[in-house]
This record gives sequence, C-alpha cells and structure tokens, in this order.
Amino acid sequence: MQISKRAAAAVLLAHALVLWTPAQAEPRNVIIFVADGLRSHSVTAQTAPALAEVRAKGVDFANSHALYPTVTTTNGSALATGHLIGDTGNFGNTIYVGPQPFPAPSNALVGDFEDDAMLGLMNQHFAGNYLGEMSLLQAARAKGYMTAALGKEGPVGVQDITARDGTGTIILDSAYGDSKGIILAPEIAAAIKAAGLAPAPPPRGAEFNGGDFKTPGTLKANVAQQDWFVGVATKVLLPRFKTEGKPFVLVFWSLDPDGTQHGNGDSLNSLIPGVNGPTSRAAIRNASNDLQALREALKSQGLEGQTDIIVTADHGFATKSLESPGSYAASLTYPDVKAGFLPRGFLAIDMAKALGVPLFTVRGDSVHPTQGESPKGGALLGLDPARPDIVVVPNGGTSLLYLPQANAKALAPRVVDHLTRQNYVAAIFVNDALGDIPGALPMSKINLIGSSRTPQPSIVVSFRSFSTGCADPEMCGVEIADSGQQQGQGTHGTLGRQDTHNFMAAIGPDFKAGFVDPAPVSNADWANTVAQILGLKLSTNGHAIGRVMTEALVTGGPPPAVRPFTLRSKPGANGFVTVLNAQDAGGETYLDAAGMPGRTIGLKP
Ligand SMILES: [Zn+2]
Repeated sequence: MQISKRAAAAVLLAHALVLWTPAQAEPRNVIIFVADGLRSHSVTAQTAPALAEVRAKGVDFANSHALYPTVTTTNGSALATGHLIGDTGNFGNTIYVGPQPFPAPSNALVGDFEDDAMLGLMNQHFAGNYLGEMSLLQAARAKGYMTAALGKEGPVGVQDITARDGTGTIILDSAYGDSKGIILAPEIAAAIKAAGLAPAPPPRGAEFNGGDFKTPGTLKANVAQQDWFVGVATKVLLPRFKTEGKPFVLVFWSLDPDGTQHGNGDSLNSLIPGVNGPTSRAAIRNASNDLQALREALKSQGLEGQTDIIVTADHGFATKSLESPGSYAASLTYPDVKAGFLPRGFLAIDMAKALGVPLFTVRGDSVHPTQGESPKGGALLGLDPARPDIVVVPNGGTSLLYLPQANAKALAPRVVDHLTRQNYVAAIFVNDALGDIPGALPMSKINLIGSSRTPQPSIVVSFRSFSTGCADPEMCGVEIADSGQQQGQGTHGTLGRQDTHNFMAAIGPDFKAGFVDPAPVSNADWANTVAQILGLKLSTNGHAIGRVMTEALVTGGPPPAVRPFTLRSKPGANGFVTVLNAQDAGGETYLDAAGMPGRTIGLKP
C-alpha cells in the first residue's frame, strides 16, 4: 500500500500525540533508583550526599512505608505493578508453591523469588505471570517507551516478569553471565563491549564472604560490581536512549546497602555497632555515589530537564539478634551455631517439639535437632512430608506458615497458641478464612488478602525487635530473624518501624521542589504515580492498589486526609495481644508497626 508523505506525517503526528500528550509538552523520562535496604534516617548530607540532595531539593517523603513483609521482592512486586501484596502474591522472598513441589532440580515445596530460574518456574506454575498484573515497564513499552531494569538478581527480573527474553525490556542483573534466566539482546551485549566494559558484572568475590559464627563477614562495600552497572547505564543505555530519541523508564536496583549490611564483618556476635559500622556506612555511600553518577550522566546527555528521578528503598534494616531465652531450639547444640543462640529454623523446631510432630526439610528429608540438625530455608511438619500439616517459610524477620491440609481450621488455634508463648514472636496474623483466633489479627488488615495467584499464607509471624538504646530507635534497631546471617550482622522483614521506614524521595520536572510530604506513602504508590505522570494505564485485575501521590506533584493538590488508627487483637490465653498501628489515606492502608507492646520498635500501645 502506498501512502502519501502527508498521510505518513499525520500518522506520525498522531502517534506522537498518543506518546507525548499527558500534561507535558515534551516527553518525560523516569529513573527509579532503588537503594536496597536503605533506612530513612541513615541518609544525611555527610553519609550520603547525593541521596540527601534529592530529598532536600525535591520531595522528602517523611512518612514513607515499605510494604510488609519488609523484604526485597515483595516490595519489588509492588514497585513493578502498583498493587499491594494481597494482589501480587509475592508474600515473601520465599513462598510455599504446593501442593506439588517444583520440578527438578528444585524438588521443593517452596520457591525463591531472588533467583532468575525460579522466577521462570513461578510464571510457569502460576498462569504464565505469577503477579497476575501488568507491570509499569510493560505498560511503558506498549506506549513506545524504551525500558530497562539493572542491578540485583530477583527484583530486577520482577520489574517486567513476562519479558525476560531480551526482546523487550533490557534486563541485566547481578547473575548475568552465569544465570540461565536472563537473556540480553545481542546489540546491547555488543554496545557493552564497545563501551570498554567487561561482558558481565564482576561477581562478588571471596572478600564479600558473609563469614560464619566464628569468622567475621565482609569489610568491603559492593563497589566494583555496582560500578559495572553504573557503566552500563551511563555509557550504554542513556546515550542509546538519547540517540533513539525515545522517552525511557529505567529501574536501577542498587544491591547496596542491603548486601553489605547483611554480610558486614564489623560486629560479629555483638549488637553494637551492628549495621552502623564503617562497612555498612561505606555501602550507603556506594549507593549514593551511584545515584550521583546517574544524575551526572543525565546532565551530560542533556536529559536532566525532562527526567523525573524517584529514589526509594525496598525496606529498612536492623541488626540481627539470635538470643531468645526460653526457646527449646536454642537449648540444643549445633555445629554451626554459637552455644545458646537460635539455629536456622528455630520456629519450626520449637513448633514440632510443642505439637509432637516430625520435622522435615522442604525436600522431605528428616531433621533431628537433638543430633545438631536444623532446617535451613524452610521446614515441613507432619507425619507425611508429601502432605505436610504445616509448612514454615522463613523470610528474615517474618515467617510465613501455610496449613495446606483439610485440618487447617482445627490446627490453626493450636499453632497460634504455641506462637503466643514464644519470646521471639511479636505479631501474629491469621488468614481471614481461618476465623478469629485470640492473640492474632486478620491478614486482611495488613493488605495480604487480595487476588493473588500464589497460595495465601495461613499465618504470618513478625519477630521481636528492640533498640540498643540510642537516641533514634530506628537507627539502632535489633531484631530476631530466621536467615543465614550471624548475630551482629544485618537483617529485615519484620513489621517494626526500623523495617517499614524506608528512604523515599523524588526530584524532577513533575515533582514539587523543597517539599516535605506529610502524607503516608508506600512502595505501591510509585507505579501509580509514574503511570499518572506518563499517561499510562496499569492493570486492575486485583483491587488492592496503591494511590497516586498527587500532593507531591507540581500539578497536584493538598495532601490527602489521613486517619491514623490502632487495632488490637483479642488476648490469647496467656494475655498475648497483637497491636497494629496504621494510617489510612487516599483509600490505602499504610502499616507503621505491629506487635505485642514492648516487642516492636515504633509501636504505640
Ligand atoms: Zn536484604
């Protein structure tokens, strides 16, 4: 078919209007910079100048919230889709995937979202797209934007979960090179080479080892690996976006400070300095320097004036404690645990003992704690590991419990009663379908019931947190967690304010300048706000959706009305109660803290 030049120009113009119309005369670009595990209060002009500058000159989201459970891919799923966790089904970094185990080589009843190959299995297992929603990057691509996600394995893949084949979004993560899960378009691989960069990110070497109970962990921030990603962004992607003349959305997921805070060797077995030592501080500075490099590259490409920069953290952080008097699990001896400390799988060990049932790994192998064995990465309880009564899935400061059999309703009150007797338990939430159980609040109150395609947990347990006594409890938070780190290293995952109070700030042509936003905001709000700025439409398969942060936008109005509230469970037989502090605003519930009074940082009883 022949078309005239004039008709072609009209088509182009119409296309341009579709692409550029929203509020602005010129197309907008967006960079979403995620500083993994960055606490709101850990940013100052001295510790992290580039991060502090965005917050001071742009919008300071002082009332910011990570979503619960406060772990990486959970928040990554909300950043990707604008939906709360009840919809995304990304209930933790690790979830139960049964009733059938994943195929070999996994062979387990649990799956891990921080793994490219596993993400593929999750999609296969859960209707082609485990999130059940369109992602922001997918919506942007469909409207002609160039899209890319760089950085940490897991949350990067989640950003455009059905397009990890190298043809759409440019996805490049820390496992690229040895991962089979991510494919890079040949022209991008060639451009990386032409820019003088190594073909793949340098792996974190032996000097980044997390150590063990007798050996301190790393004393180095993740500088070299992140420099490679910064090189790809500044020398390959931004120039390419500029040359193509198309607008873009770029997600940059900085592994620091998270990875270094987790594995830091500053504080083995000691709660002070914990995650506030020199190695953790270097990791915060590393993330700040990376942001600085991206901003400088934007400027030198002449893209600064039409690019909004959003800076967020998936969650806060705490120093890990492994001391919990009264735990049966801690009274036993293990070859890889300091005497008297909690082993991996302590909750499962204590529960199996209390309920008098056998204990298995997630692959069905027997575990004998009295012989020094502990279940790592999850546990099955029951007579038959192929049909477990309870599946315990640790996610750092939170454990997810699944009761997959027909006896769930009868079993749940016994499980909750046992949990209320453990010193390490702060808050208990029970699936609404299991009814009202004394000591616990319903999961619907913490945004965990929605349209998820993955199985809903039956019971969610947040562990105890406390401060070491500094002036700002969020900055010296300590918490019990079931994870690979030692006492004195870092962790997160609870519903304490040290974990929910993530860093959030934004700067650019669409954001107010020098504005402190008093309204609550969360990681579910970014995608909705970016979609509004770019004129994109996200999917609404579920109903648990974040809000647009209109009050922070140049075109926006006053902050929304905010209603803070507190919920209390009925007391358990021993007086245990779960108390929740939250705020309602713009139709969304924001979770501040929850727990038995005295067991949670930031909780107002
Ligand atoms: Zn982490």
